[in-house]
Amino acid sequence: MRVAVVGTGYVGLVSGACLAEVGHEVICVDLDAAKVASIERGEAFLFEPGLQEIMDHTAGSRLRGSTDLAAAVRASELTMIAVGTPSSDGRIDLGYVRSAAAAIGAALREHPEPHVVVVKSTVVPGTTEDVVRPELERASGRRVGDGLGLAMNPEFLREGNAVVDFMEPDRIVLGVADDLARERLEALYAPFACPDVLVTTPRTAEAIKYTSNAVLATLISFSNEIGNLMAKLPGVDVRTVMEGVYLDRRWSPILEDGRRVRPGILTYLAAGCGFGGSCFPKDVQALKAFARAHDAPTPLLEAVMDINGSQPGEVVALLERGLGDLRGRRLALLGVAFKPDTDDVRESPSLRVAQMLVAAGAETRAFDPAARETGRVALPAQVQLCDTLEDALEGAEGVALMTSWRDFAVLPALLASREDPPLLVDGRRMLDPRSVARYAGIGLGPEPS
Ligand code: NAD
Repeated sequence: MRVAVVGTGYVGLVSGACLAEVGHEVICVDLDAAKVASIERGEAFLFEPGLQEIMDHTAGSRLRGSTDLAAAVRASELTMIAVGTPSSDGRIDLGYVRSAAAAIGAALREHPEPHVVVVKSTVVPGTTEDVVRPELERASGRRVGDGLGLAMNPEFLREGNAVVDFMEPDRIVLGVADDLARERLEALYAPFACPDVLVTTPRTAEAIKYTSNAVLATLISFSNEIGNLMAKLPGVDVRTVMEGVYLDRRWSPILEDGRRVRPGILTYLAAGCGFGGSCFPKDVQALKAFARAHDAPTPLLEAVMDINGSQPGEVVALLERGLGDLRGRRLALLGVAFKPDTDDVRESPSLRVAQMLVAAGAETRAFDPAARETGRVALPAQVQLCDTLEDALEGAEGVALMTSWRDFAVLPALLASREDPPLLVDGRRMLDPRSVARYAGIGLGPEPS
């Protein structure tokens, strides 16, 4: 199928590349000429495992880049909207979606071919029907259901696993407004082996995406609240507490042969320094604001955000508890990305900790295996971003481990040789507390007396 993807950020580029990989002819459109030029050169402009490999053999043939939205749309049978939906005063800003819909509509005016427009951006329930549809119909002079198809198809990819998630989806949700949209989307996704395709309305598809993100964010904040309580109890470790919780067969089912299944959901039921990224914080905020506008109270979502907002402060508090006043102290901040296997630093808890350490007068050196360019731009100027882990650790009296990169598993070995070992504050609880001389972690209670 000939496909245009409008908005080539994380979602647009990964979707476009993966659709090209399975044989579709894809044009990725963006306002940002530098991103388009990078696609045309066959270079991934963001770090995502497996993406460059796909672009190596699709760019220039089945995967193209363009800044000419109208030409791309007219050359296609289906157009996806994958533009950003940022937060504005806590509410979703639909400005990019609205203008993309208007531009796609204008391109379809006087263009009688059947065409389907699919919203892939995360949008609050009702947006596809009440915002995108009128823009499209007005600008195109055409009617949805009459050769113009409309759908909402949320994206569930996880950054750092985005290519695998797209190529081997656990679910495909098709919120279709008409038959043409359903037929084309089923054909688009036919090459992907997916256990479940859920066909529903656009409004329900939009609600599924928000609910999916909100429940994961809630698990994290719940675990953090419990972790902060356990940290007050002598000899108690939230990790062991949670391990006992996981063993409930409803969390970890026991197969007929006696083996346990360890579901991925349990990684969200774990205490740490809080969630970040381009989705959870803005999507939970947007859902809260959307609920308020519908007179539906969301005290639980309020608490989810409040707990998350204070969680980076727990890391700083642990450093202060171990080191005293941080003014003039040399510290290492390990991990800037909001999670491993990505260079995305948007809303990363590490940035919040960096700001607090600067405010406290600490001398901070940071390191991240991937987020170098993005980290350099986002970190406060007073924080020096180092090229190696060793450089960041040099002379450090305290270490804040903020991202669970596998590269940091070497820390115990690296620190073992230090005569005056630093305090390591494990914001992700990824290291064994006994593996370093001075350890503090989220959710770890004091030694019993
Ligand atoms: P992004 O900010 O990385 O990319 C958006 C791109 O759209 C930018 O490159 C921008 O230049 C471009 N753009 C904006 N208006 C345009 C227009 N009129 N024409 C052409 N290009 C235009 O955003 P993202 O992280 O890829 O997210 C996109 C959407 O997908 C958001 O709604 C987000 O919530 C959702 N989503 C993101 C993820 C994720 O992991 N990042 C996962 C699932 C869903």
